[in-house]
Amino acid sequence: MITATTVVALSFFLAGSADARSGKIALTFDDLPALTILKDQSYVTWLNQRLLQGLKRHHLPATGFVNEGKLNDLDHTRQIDVLNMWLDAGMNLGNHSFSHKSPNILGANAYIRDIKKGEPVTKALLARHHRTLRWFRHPYLETGSPEPVKRQINGWLATHGYRIAPVTIDANDWEFAEPYDDAIARRDETQRRLIKAEYLQYTEKMLGWYRQAAHTLFNRDIAYIMLLHATRLNADSIDDLAAILRRNGLHGVPLDKAMKDPAYRTPDHYAGPDGIEWLERWSQTLHKDLPWASFSDPPANIQSAYRRVDNDY
Ligand SMILES: [Zn+2]
Repeated sequence: MITATTVVALSFFLAGSADARSGKIALTFDDLPALTILKDQSYVTWLNQRLLQGLKRHHLPATGFVNEGKLNDLDHTRQIDVLNMWLDAGMNLGNHSFSHKSPNILGANAYIRDIKKGEPVTKALLARHHRTLRWFRHPYLETGSPEPVKRQINGWLATHGYRIAPVTIDANDWEFAEPYDDAIARRDETQRRLIKAEYLQYTEKMLGWYRQAAHTLFNRDIAYIMLLHATRLNADSIDDLAAILRRNGLHGVPLDKAMKDPAYRTPDHYAGPDGIEWLERWSQTLHKDLPWASFSDPPANIQSAYRRVDNDY
């Protein structure tokens, strides 16, 4: 739906961008080797190949965040091959904890053990590519609650060479991805196409919203960090996602380059239980409201399809 707010926001951004590709965005993909309801190694390997080929074709650098607990779900060796493919394609890898559990449930000590347990394979693969393990992404974007839990985790990460990878664009791709896998499994081509179209439409709308949010806090576009997942949906959508970034004047940069934007030096004092992204955290630090009136949730049919599929598998 095109609203008056959208029109105002669009003309504002068009007027504001002298260079059509001046904006920066770093893509991050969580839950490697893959987020899928289909437990099939060939499917997982193939979707990663397709995704990586697409990223390379569009010159989009990316960082993949690994759950080493998933390596044992399928063929251990071939799962490691998938991680290696990311590094061979010139992408980076980070730690997303071993078992993808919440710090708020585990508490600081068990959560730190889970981070350490998620290191060895990724660390060894990075070393073989002359790189070091530097990035950590919190599962569910939950950074630890209450405050002492967060403080202990932050302290441990900082003294063990990690930097937290924030998220400043999140279009709930995971919620579309499971119904998409399910449509593929049921060979329902109509539904598959419908989900993909709705996903892309929602992603572009949310990209606009996050840019508006950044302008509210910083009066400018920041170098964005987008949260995505290693899914068949994104593998099939990568050409369309690249086109969305182009239309919005954004070009892909590595995560460390995006993090050079001074916006990422804004303190994050949020220690509540919710997994919220960083613009919302900073809105609290800076005492400025985000444009919630124009925020939209994923379509209702996607939300109900997700609940149904998630219960079935
Ligand atoms: Zn995750």
